[in-house]
Amino acid sequence: MVCLAGDFMLHKAAAGTLPGNGRTKNHEMVRAFVDSSTHAIIGFLVWALVENPSILGDFRKWLNCFAAAALAASVDLDHFWAAGELNLKKAMHLTKRPPFHNTSLVCALTLVFAFLQKWKPKMWMFSMMFLCSWLSHHLRDANHRGLWVFPFGHTPLFSKKLYIMCILILAAFVRIAVVVHQGSTGLRSTEGFAKVIL
Ligand SMILES: [Zn+2]
Repeated sequence: MVCLAGDFMLHKAAAGTLPGNGRTKNHEMVRAFVDSSTHAIIGFLVWALVENPSILGDFRKWLNCFAAAALAASVDLDHFWAAGELNLKKAMHLTKRPPFHNTSLVCALTLVFAFLQKWKPKMWMFSMMFLCSWLSHHLRDANHRGLWVFPFGHTPLFSKKLYIMCILILAAFVRIAVVVHQGSTGLRSTEGFAKVIL
């Protein structure tokens, strides 16, 4: 529902028919806000699914979910990097896809973070949070531009149904992975999750 509502609002913002949009005449700003908020809420919810339904009672789990939301929204910072300046209009009209939108990079960084658990055990859970946040962002963007898998190029566009299904599969897959990992490391059910940030 969040995916569909965000996409609908984005469509409205692009057409300039969102309430208040006509007055400000600042379509780019509204579009960027709606788009980033949708990515952030999806990142939050995906990590909440991975954590546990009992999230309401644990402050540290809420903190983890907000961290996942910030991570999911942070992907689009590369638009400014590629534009070379803090100009929203330029950042939103790039001719090439910016570097953080490379899905091969997400896979590589997830492996690097997971490998770092050798020295810092909480990095494994962080690698899963990173994977959920950044890949959910990429999957939603794939609805407009496909996935960019360097060096193989772009996949065809994902339909709304396909990208939403992929995000749900991602959440289920990561949930299973962390539960199995906790079992193998002998952690209590809440320990591994809560320690991602604190
Ligand atoms: Zn993006």
